[in-house]
Amino acid sequence: MGNAKNRNFPRALRLWRRARGKKISMDKPIQFFSTNLKSGNLRFHEALLKGQAPDKGLYLPVSIPQIPVEEIIDFGRKEYWEIAYHVTKRFLKGEISDDELITIARDSYNYEVPLEHVSDRKYVMRLDRGPTASFKDFAARMMGRLMQYYLQTGNRRLLILTATSGDTGSAVANAFYGLDNIDIVVLFPKDEVTDRQRKQMTTLGKNVNVLALDAKFDDCQALVKQAFADASLDHLGLSSANSINIGRLVPQIVYFFYAYAKLSSPGEQIIFSVPSGNFGDMMGGVLAMKMGLPVRRFIIATNQNDEFPNYLNSGKYNKIEPSRNCISSAMNVGHPSNLARLVALYGGIMDEKGAILRSADMERMRKELWGISITDAETRKTIDEAWKQWKLLLEPHGSVGWTGLMKYILEQGDNFKKDQLCVSLETAHPAKFPDEINKITGIDPELPQSLQGIDNKPEFFTDLPNNYTSFKSWLNTNFK
Ligand SMILES: *Cc1c(COP(=O)(O)O)cnc(C)c1O
Repeated sequence: MGNAKNRNFPRALRLWRRARGKKISMDKPIQFFSTNLKSGNLRFHEALLKGQAPDKGLYLPVSIPQIPVEEIIDFGRKEYWEIAYHVTKRFLKGEISDDELITIARDSYNYEVPLEHVSDRKYVMRLDRGPTASFKDFAARMMGRLMQYYLQTGNRRLLILTATSGDTGSAVANAFYGLDNIDIVVLFPKDEVTDRQRKQMTTLGKNVNVLALDAKFDDCQALVKQAFADASLDHLGLSSANSINIGRLVPQIVYFFYAYAKLSSPGEQIIFSVPSGNFGDMMGGVLAMKMGLPVRRFIIATNQNDEFPNYLNSGKYNKIEPSRNCISSAMNVGHPSNLARLVALYGGIMDEKGAILRSADMERMRKELWGISITDAETRKTIDEAWKQWKLLLEPHGSVGWTGLMKYILEQGDNFKKDQLCVSLETAHPAKFPDEINKITGIDPELPQSLQGIDNKPEFFTDLPNNYTSFKSWLNTNFK
């Protein structure tokens, strides 16, 4: 971790470089290790193109770069893409030129990131204004552009495999659509995505291939993981765009800095509520905190897949198989793939199956994180009440986050101060869940631009049986 000396050194270097009018990257690149500790360390671009580590662990930075609080406060005057540049370059030093990274950040974040005031100092951050109207656009757009950059430089091709519980597939497909060096295969559970979510993936075509499985999200993810571990598929150049990829994680750190910088008063701490499934979103937040963002607490709100709140309380981890079907469908995850990263950040080791090989510092975890599971009935009730009380329009995922915040405030009682700054994340656009929203509130959320016209476009997808043999033979037939 950074100390004062380390932190001042790069600044001096920057000033020196600026004075000489040259861009010389003298910073040593950050190394990334695998949470299973059995694969060697890699640099960012290598971890990005690999996805999962060969030992089935997930990559994390060996040392976490620090951002001084004065600089965080200064972000308040910057645009979103500029903050994205300043935060992500901490992980990409020596890996890409400043100009190149600025271009990528500007290009990735050409849409609004509204911070909607609700009451007192409580806000909802709307991460739903990207091209597929889900927060996954934040990660996918930057990751796609970074991958393209490194593939072009190395004259390489990749075949991206991704399992989706709804929104990853469309965000990734959209972010990679039409890129020269990349093909995409998306696997989705047939009955667990809405028509609109499906159409956002299946109406693209070109280099986007979509497979429909009569299965759960976890089954889709298991097939993808098995393909990655299968040496006989090495010739396909497989990589992942799921939240196991470090390239997804790094861009998700940015909006936590953004919200704090735009809303905070000097010296204060913030509370975030993060609706969580695979825990990529909340890992972005926890990394932001470890980089120096003044966070009082993260509320980790899950749906009825409550394995994490149970783990936080008991220190014992039991995944849920099969995962439970809830209306916040993108969070129907019985074993969050990023949990191994979280455990690692708190000094423990969790393998890819969810076994805890060394326990994490649970006491510290409980101080920094508060977990809560929200039922579908509560999710619906909050959508209704938030609309009636504040004209706050939530969809099921954002409602889980907001309900989590309300429960936290109740539990804290007098310890919760009215002027406490709180930001709850809204991760999808309400128009993606028109039936549910209409049933509860009686209103029809207006379609964002990106979803208009989609209902009438032709769809392309293949039905595939839920077994590895079929999947592998489909891959071998379609890609050589
Ligand atoms: C993916 C997703 C989530 C969960 O995010 P994780 O990073 O997997 O925890 C929440 N809401 C929506 C709309 C999503 O698409």
